[in-house]
Amino acid sequence: MSATPCYIGIGANLGDAQDTVRRTIAMLGELPQTRLAAQSSLFSTAPVDAGGDDYINAVVRLDTGLQPLELLHALQAIERDFGRERPYRNAPRTLDLDILVYGSQVIASDALTVPHPRMTQRAFVLIPLLQIDPFITIPGLGPAHAFVPGVAGQAIRKI
Ligand code: ATP
Ligand code: MG
Ligand code: MG
Repeated sequence: MSATPCYIGIGANLGDAQDTVRRTIAMLGELPQTRLAAQSSLFSTAPVDAGGDDYINAVVRLDTGLQPLELLHALQAIERDFGRERPYRNAPRTLDLDILVYGSQVIASDALTVPHPRMTQRAFVLIPLLQIDPFITIPGLGPAHAFVPGVAGQAIRKI
């Protein structure tokens, strides 16, 4: 099996969000052809362009043999397990799973944009990502750490 390193952003702000994130991380490690290679701490962040309580966020690295769309569909199945609904854009959510980076691939299709187009603007993505891989380069965009000054105004707290 040739495994591709990929990074998944996890966010939850409804119900017992910490429990949701912890259980989700365990489920990600049980996906077929997939190994949980690294996991960040849990972080708490105020909602950006979204309503509701503070978010619990984390990032994991998976080494996976799943193709990008297979991985996306697997993530969406886990979101559904936790009762994710999409009543309106940026609504509070039980669980959001986004593919941040998939190996060195740059993908722009209707279903999937990778690297995730808003990841460099979000402290809740960059800080956990850099915790697990301080030297990561975002394909097409350069070193992730270079984007940290741009999110310095966003409050984020390690749990
Ligand atoms: P944002 O994309 O700003 O983080 P969101 O995560 O709340 O917002 P969702 O409602 O979870 O948005 O996803 C909307 C659609 O985004 C999904 O149906 C999915 O097909 C698409 N999508 C595109 N690129 C990605 C990606 N890299 N990871 C996850 N979903 C993606
Ligand atoms: Mg998202
Ligand atoms: Mg999403």
